[in-house]
Amino acid sequence: MKEAIKTIKESDSILIMAHKNPDGDAIGSVLGLGIALEVLGKKVTRFSQDPVPKVFDFLPNLPVIKNKIEPRRYDLIILLDCDNLNRTGIKDFSKVYESYGRLLIIDHHPKSDTDGCKENCLAVIDPSASSTAVMIYGLLKELKIEITKDIANCIFTGIFADTGSFQHSNTDEKTLKVAAELMKKGARAEKIAKHIFKNRTMPAIKLWGKALSRIETDKETGMAVSYLSKKDLEENDVSQEELSGLVSIINTISDAKFSLFLTEYGDKKLKGSLRSEEYKGIDVSRIAKSLGGGGHKLASGFEMNGEINESIKKITKMILETKKDSIANK
Ligand code: 5GP
Ligand code: MN
Repeated sequence: MKEAIKTIKESDSILIMAHKNPDGDAIGSVLGLGIALEVLGKKVTRFSQDPVPKVFDFLPNLPVIKNKIEPRRYDLIILLDCDNLNRTGIKDFSKVYESYGRLLIIDHHPKSDTDGCKENCLAVIDPSASSTAVMIYGLLKELKIEITKDIANCIFTGIFADTGSFQHSNTDEKTLKVAAELMKKGARAEKIAKHIFKNRTMPAIKLWGKALSRIETDKETGMAVSYLSKKDLEENDVSQEELSGLVSIINTISDAKFSLFLTEYGDKKLKGSLRSEEYKGIDVSRIAKSLGGGGHKLASGFEMNGEINESIKKITKMILETKKDSIANK
């Protein structure tokens, strides 16, 4: 972290990015850090390949997360909430930057097998941190930056999103202390909760119902699984981002060991979300990794190509073939 601070202080033009399909932690961290670095007099560019989900419209500085920029040289790229530039979803990097002096990665995921920190790179990784946002708070403290109301709301959003409003097992004493500090600085927990958790459209909720009524459980693997197809989404005019949180509901089935929710977002292109609970003794990141994805022990994701039902069968088979104790957290 000391070296990260030195690097930030020495850099003038900074590009901040996070992973594709940005979630609350990614958005809150990019925005909170961005505002803070501008306070330090830095020239900050914020970029996301994918659009920012509408639920975050209430956050300050949102229009400045661009999805089209003029490529130029940056002293520093700060990559948040993932550990490889490939996770930004950028296909042609020459359309985003010409070159950069250094890459700084700040992430709370366990180091992935595809760790992208090579030359001119510094990685601050803390898998014990509940969120990237809580790490950004620590960084701003070290940089002695005053936490303004806007910064507080951005960082609180990141923490609130990644802890599932302080319900997930990553909710620790430190996170709650930081959250309390942020509230003191003007973060509005109830307003943020309303925007990110209680802001659904009728068609979206009805589609949640369809997905919930489709849940099946598999005794052998202990998996509870459901899905929505591209057709389901299109017919109801519901976006993929409006399904955020659905897998957590599936994961409340106490008999299931873990839950899987698949969404078809393109032609036979699937996004999978995996969840479990500490007491169930499963590490879903191992399943995600063997499918080319990654994430945390209790919350992971992946992308795969294939037809939905066939893919569910394939995943089930893969889990059964993998020795049970290699996914069991023993
Ligand atoms: P979600 O299911 O909410 O999209 O993602 C859960 C967690 O898994 C998040 O921490 C997210 O960063 C991670 N994750 C989701 N999809 C992928 C993926 O395709 N690759 C990797 N490495 N991580 C993912
Ligand atoms: Mn995160």
